[in-house]
Amino acid sequence: MSIPWHQKTLRWGQTNITEIDPQRYDIEWWRQHWRRTRIQGTIVNAGGIVAYYPSKYPLHYQAAHLEGRDLYGEISEAAREEGLTVLARMDSNRATEEFFQEHANWFARDKEDNPYKVGDRYPACIFSGYYTEFLPVILEEIIDRYQPDGFTDNSWSGLSQDKICYCENCRQNFLDEYGLDIPNETNWEDLTFKKWIRWNYDRRLEIWDLNNITVKNRSGNENCLWLGMISGNPLQEASRFRDMKGILDRSTFITLDYQHRPAFGFQSNSNAGKLLHGLIGWDKLIPESMPLYQGRTPAFRLSSKSVPEAHMWMAEGFAGTILPWWHHISAYHEDRRQYQTAEPIMKWHEKNEQFLINRNPVASVGILWSQENIDYHGKDDPEQNVMWPYEGMAQALIRGRIPYIPVHADHIDRHSDNLAVLILPNIGVMSDAQVESVRRFVYNGGSLIATGETSIFDEWGRTRGDFALSDIFGVHATGTHEGHIKVSAPTWEVYDHHSYLRLDPPLRETVYGPKIGQGSEKTPRHQIYDGFNETDILPFGGRLENVLADSNCTPLMTFIPAFPIFPPEFSWIREPDKKKPVAISKTTEQGGRTIYLAADIDRCFRRDNFPDHGNLLINLTRWASEDKLPIKIEGPGLIDCQIYKQDNRLVIHLVNLTGSTEQPMHELVPVGPLHIQIKAEGSVKSLVNEKQLECRQENEWLSFWIPVIELHEVLVIEKE
Ligand SMILES: [Zn+2]
Repeated sequence: MSIPWHQKTLRWGQTNITEIDPQRYDIEWWRQHWRRTRIQGTIVNAGGIVAYYPSKYPLHYQAAHLEGRDLYGEISEAAREEGLTVLARMDSNRATEEFFQEHANWFARDKEDNPYKVGDRYPACIFSGYYTEFLPVILEEIIDRYQPDGFTDNSWSGLSQDKICYCENCRQNFLDEYGLDIPNETNWEDLTFKKWIRWNYDRRLEIWDLNNITVKNRSGNENCLWLGMISGNPLQEASRFRDMKGILDRSTFITLDYQHRPAFGFQSNSNAGKLLHGLIGWDKLIPESMPLYQGRTPAFRLSSKSVPEAHMWMAEGFAGTILPWWHHISAYHEDRRQYQTAEPIMKWHEKNEQFLINRNPVASVGILWSQENIDYHGKDDPEQNVMWPYEGMAQALIRGRIPYIPVHADHIDRHSDNLAVLILPNIGVMSDAQVESVRRFVYNGGSLIATGETSIFDEWGRTRGDFALSDIFGVHATGTHEGHIKVSAPTWEVYDHHSYLRLDPPLRETVYGPKIGQGSEKTPRHQIYDGFNETDILPFGGRLENVLADSNCTPLMTFIPAFPIFPPEFSWIREPDKKKPVAISKTTEQGGRTIYLAADIDRCFRRDNFPDHGNLLINLTRWASEDKLPIKIEGPGLIDCQIYKQDNRLVIHLVNLTGSTEQPMHELVPVGPLHIQIKAEGSVKSLVNEKQLECRQENEWLSFWIPVIELHEVLVIEKE
């Protein structure tokens, strides 16, 4: 049996055609470029908002300069001659005035029954015949004419969460399904609104299924896939009602529209790869559209992206087991530098492809996430409420060179055998089943770090009054807190985040007045204070949950409430002895370790990037892991480290993020030498420098040096 395209097409390229391109698309030149860049598949604009073939349907708007040319057909034919997989690109979400006039009841409407508009086009309602009648016949027309291997759709999921549609289709359907009227407004306290959110997710899944049934039936080919583009960021997908777990549960392949680094940094791409593979499986392929034009702010569609910026995004993608897919806007460029960006990295990928797919992550730490937590705990500010705690934890682990995997809250049992530590960064919303699987993880000897409001709310975001995991944490909620999440326009005069954490017990006795500086230096301190020997306080500035600790737990650190920052004469600690615990640790009966962190250090680290906060999170993780971490890396720089197991070998990605906070990146900043120790046996080969490294075996640890890393290093460790 031959292997279907979606299991073997590893490198992709896409020229996103503009309306003028039918007059100037030089197919011969692009054929040469496909060969130069070693691609095996291409995405060609077919229809949707703009058609690039002479569609027989008058309402299917054709490119302004198409003039009867069958550009899609010609490119598709050339690509097939080159042996490429061809996906027909759709962009189906809005239509012209003429279309609107003919099918006015297919379009999204506001509360006053006015149609929504985007520029001069009308967005269609996802519950309307546009999706169930019009698009299926377009898909069928394209299948009949061209037999593409599959379809991608750019913006397939209708209106996003910030707009409520009140059209007749929506009103009737919500009434039929839930017996409710469409909610009046965005209100995260309103159960009707929360149900409206779920109903919207479910509709996108229905459309996903409908489109797949349509293309499979019409083509008679089970490998003809309809693929809505999704991003690698759960927050972004939540805002578009795309249920990542639901979508990937029903997928064997996914096309990723995650083109530019977000505020979290390049590391969000390796995170995305791990998160998505965690859902779809590590044996599946995930290519990602990687633009070679300048994206983000400011964006220039026709200008070349800086090469380090483009390559760093790609290298972080590879580290997350994402496949490359170059992407240009327009078929003709006066800035021709962008044609040179992909070639070297695509050739490297081709040469080493066997090491870059079909592998499983080796990580002893998992970070929990769920889309319900983003919606029903994130509410009006999911970024600060939910994403920052997650990203702060992830960033600390990357800083500490501690490989981790994202773990969906429904998949804890799936991963628990391989994890020493599970981190729950402010996972406020948890179902009873998710709570039970955390409990099972701990009962089986696992260690836990949980922060903030973790497990206080049920799956609909209704408060439980106490942590559902209070028995595991050894801590009870009081429903009150100190400080707050947002730093709103702080000024010296009214800065109310000036709080601290006291490291208890202090290294010197806490004394005021004459005894200052004469405390004992002999008091042994907890491992989580490593590196903090010369300080008894750390800056804080965040939110602290007021909690009550059980008597069998050890409180670590106490809270120092905010005090004036200005004038300097007023800056002294007013309430030194509040004794509000900050972290509460426990050794479980099964031998694991748990830490509940009442202070939002995870969120603070993401927001403020204080080394103290990062180092404290690293220390907490090291203590909880009891030395079960698989790798130690000594040397300078910010290095994103991922380890994979593949057959009898390990593949290690080290991506050099040093200096990458500059945006866009102007240059790579080489770092080294780095001393690596990893729990493995065998020889070490560099796939970047193409040579064997000298190494030594010391008990279970294999030890070697890497002289320098520029963009990235990929190592293969294999027994000879
Ligand atoms: Zn509607």
